[in-house]
Amino acid sequence: MLEHVNGLSRRHTPESLRALLLERSTRRPDGCLIVEGYGRQRGVYQKIAGRAWAHIAAYAVFVGPIDPGLEVDHTCGVKDCVEPTHLRQVSHAENCRSRAQAPTCRNGHERELDPATGRLRRQCRACNAEAQQRWRARQAAERAASMTPQGLAESKTRWDAR
Ligand SMILES: [Zn+2]
Ligand SMILES: [Zn+2]
Repeated sequence: MLEHVNGLSRRHTPESLRALLLERSTRRPDGCLIVEGYGRQRGVYQKIAGRAWAHIAAYAVFVGPIDPGLEVDHTCGVKDCVEPTHLRQVSHAENCRSRAQAPTCRNGHERELDPATGRLRRQCRACNAEAQQRWRARQAAERAASMTPQGLAESKTRWDAR
């Protein structure tokens, strides 16, 4: 059952792996079962039990058996989810085609559909606009600071030092 879970620590049995996965995961209101691997980063594929991918391990022990010619895919599009009903095996080509795209950017803005590709745009216009606004505000603050007597004195000193 575990022979196609690469990187798995040898001491694991299907039972211990099931227990480990459940112990390290949390159910979200949307139904995803989010597992915590070693790193601090969430929302990405997680590693557990040696160097095994958690979603592949979960497929093997909760759904199984693993077909090594296929990939384990998330129907929910959440990479750190190990909910068995959200996992399926598909070919690499199918996985690329159907890879679920998050409907919002990391800041919660709804993402735009690119009519040319039928996929969601990677760039978020709202985030870009906000970043530009922050940049302009910073520039304005710097300009304002250089207009104070102290700022003027500093720029004069800089000028004199040339
Ligand atoms: Zn899920
Ligand atoms: Zn955004």
